[in-house]
Amino acid sequence: MTPTIPSSAISSSLEAVRRRLAAAEVAAGRAPGSVRLLAVSKTFPCDAIQDAYAAGQRAFGENYVQELQAKGAELAGLDIEWHFIGPLQSNKTRPVAELAHWVHSVERLKIAERLSVQRPESLPPLNVCLQVNVSGEASKSGCAPHEAVALAQAVAALPRLRLRGLMCIPEPTADPARLAAQFTLLCRLRDELVQQGMALDTLSMGMSSDLELAVREGSTLVRVGTAIFGSRSYPA
Ligand SMILES: *Cc1c(COP(=O)(O)O)cnc(C)c1O
Repeated sequence: MTPTIPSSAISSSLEAVRRRLAAAEVAAGRAPGSVRLLAVSKTFPCDAIQDAYAAGQRAFGENYVQELQAKGAELAGLDIEWHFIGPLQSNKTRPVAELAHWVHSVERLKIAERLSVQRPESLPPLNVCLQVNVSGEASKSGCAPHEAVALAQAVAALPRLRLRGLMCIPEPTADPARLAAQFTLLCRLRDELVQQGMALDTLSMGMSSDLELAVREGSTLVRVGTAIFGSRSYPA
């Protein structure tokens, strides 16, 4: 895992992200506190999570099932809300169904069905977002925009899931117009689902480099890693 950066650095970078988020809400004319901050802790050790926790952060995002399991076990005593945000294979759904409070990356019905079946009865329904491939890149996860309505209807009918909204990862571009168009597409899809009577409250979009733009385009939850924990190093 990536080496720990000093805890004082994490609390001050977290504070800086909170200020950015608050300023983005004001600039976008959004209500203060209307956008949640998810701290994306993938590749960082439990120490880093504990530092952010000590600074008041409760929602953490992980991309890899094994890492979620290890951290969930080690930090079981803390009041953490775990969000699974990475690609999910159908043979790895069980630990996620048992540990996570949220899954942002549901992109096909089979995964959703397994999560619903495997969600323990002792826990509340699992909160899920559908990941939509808003950039159309062939390499990207997510359902195609034209599949989102049918998938949402099917997922919303599953007993142990609670469909909360939509998630996207736009193409890696610095062009704000392209990013804004992709965020807008997700927002329009959400509006379409709400018009059909679905009670959705979440648009999971925006990361370290584009959270201001995402908030302007209607994000209700930004997923921020690098700006809080530093840059990641991956095993070779
Ligand atoms: C890693 C990751 C993030 C965080 O990205 P940063 O640029 O480090 O803020 C957000 N969302 C998803 C799905 C990720 O995989």
